Amino acid sequence: MNAPETFSSRLTPAWRDAGFLQALGPAFGTELPPRAVSEPAWGARSPALAVELGLVDWLDTREALAVLAGNQVPSGVRPFASVYSGHQFGVWAGQLGDGRALMLGEIDTPAGAMEVQLKGSGLTPYSRMGDGRAVLRSSVREFLCSEAMHALGIPTTRALAVITSPQPVRRETIETAAVVTRVAPSFLRFGHFEHFAHTAQDTAALQQLLEATTQRYFPGISGPAALLEEVARRTARLVAQWQLVGFCHGVMNTDNMSLLGLTIDYGPFGFLDAFDPMHVCNHSDDQGRYAYARQPSVAFWNLHALAQALLPLVDGPKEAASEQLLAALEPYKAEFAAAMVSGLRTKLGLVAEHDDDAALADDLLKLMTEDRADFTITWRRMSDLAAARDCFLQRDKFDAWAERYRARLALENSDDSERRIRMHRANPKFVLRNHLAQTAIERAQHGDFSETQRLLKVLEHPFDEQPHNEADAAFPPAWATQLEVSCSS
Ligand code: AMP
Ligand code: MG
Repeated sequence: MNAPETFSSRLTPAWRDAGFLQALGPAFGTELPPRAVSEPAWGARSPALAVELGLVDWLDTREALAVLAGNQVPSGVRPFASVYSGHQFGVWAGQLGDGRALMLGEIDTPAGAMEVQLKGSGLTPYSRMGDGRAVLRSSVREFLCSEAMHALGIPTTRALAVITSPQPVRRETIETAAVVTRVAPSFLRFGHFEHFAHTAQDTAALQQLLEATTQRYFPGISGPAALLEEVARRTARLVAQWQLVGFCHGVMNTDNMSLLGLTIDYGPFGFLDAFDPMHVCNHSDDQGRYAYARQPSVAFWNLHALAQALLPLVDGPKEAASEQLLAALEPYKAEFAAAMVSGLRTKLGLVAEHDDDAALADDLLKLMTEDRADFTITWRRMSDLAAARDCFLQRDKFDAWAERYRARLALENSDDSERRIRMHRANPKFVLRNHLAQTAIERAQHGDFSETQRLLKVLEHPFDEQPHNEADAAFPPAWATQLEVSCSS
């Protein structure tokens, strides 16, 4: 690998000639150029990611704008749309694929090898009924949330930039187009495996995908069962992190599940305001399949779909093979429970481990549910019980709980000021609430990205006090309850 100095002054990324899936052969997708957008212009950028990738200087070039708009293909790059399949809302959906995304290729960065993808770059062979485009509204949401989740310490794909265009895009109304530059070590999905198992029924390709994936992304792991177990553990930890910050993904279809355990495909996501475990952030999700409280079991369901896809690769009689894969999924439950209880302990500022900790946290969550306490604000205030108390209607119940909590703190001689610092590092003050995104979007739709960039800066430091930005940490305004986010993006 090159020295970091070379990266920091890089004027053009060193594209590899083919991305991971592309190199596996034509069964894995299609090479095609992006479709140009009219009058591309810079919308938003993540300066922090640009630094991490060593692309600061390049982003100031005209080439960067043209490349990230999809209007120019760098020499040596063969953009590529991958094919995958998946289960949507629990139902087998057959073949899907990168319907509006293109892999530009891989680059070496100071942060390791990264795949760079354009989202919204036009029709591909997998666009089905879609137009291959993304609207500005959803692109700003994906951009901000990718970077916000990263700052929260939650594994995620990243977003480097949003390019805008006046080109009209029809959704419920006419909106305008945007292209998001997404970056991740890999955009591999459960659905890539499901595709070769069920749609293509190509066991050789499935085997090839398994071997290449383990070799490249899971060193030290070999075989379908071992891979499945590792993916199950990563997914368990990821979903626990979502639960701990009140993040609802909104469309946990198997094609939106990252094999690497990253948060991927930001659509109708949302952060909880008033705590309601059955909160459904996706307006199109009538059944509430992807409600906040259901995310852990839905992820487990999705892992079963991945297991089903890996089944043809397990040697021996089918029944024994199934058992082997089911056994590989088993650690999910304990891994999730452990991540939750340890995360809740940290949110409560506890250092030692006691058997009653889970019940203590659970009872607080129950009380928050009964009183519809604001998820983020209540947790943030927990280091100051008098302030937290104001979040509850049933003050007597809260006082009873607080007494138990104080007794628990006394058991480990918890120091108030040290605990406060720990808790502020575990309970974010700033998350991307829908109404914050909405304000940024409305400005962006008028060509003004200053609010998007300002909000990005706030969200890059979610655990800091930032006294000048109190408004971004406040209770949502009344109009926020009327905001609807659907799958249309
Ligand atoms: P999603 O639910 O957004 O993850 O999308 C499911 C599938 O539909 C994926 O294969 C997407 O690539 C595809 N898709 C979504 N929106 C569009 C669009 N506007 N044009 C083409 N394909 C799309
Ligand atoms: Mg998707």
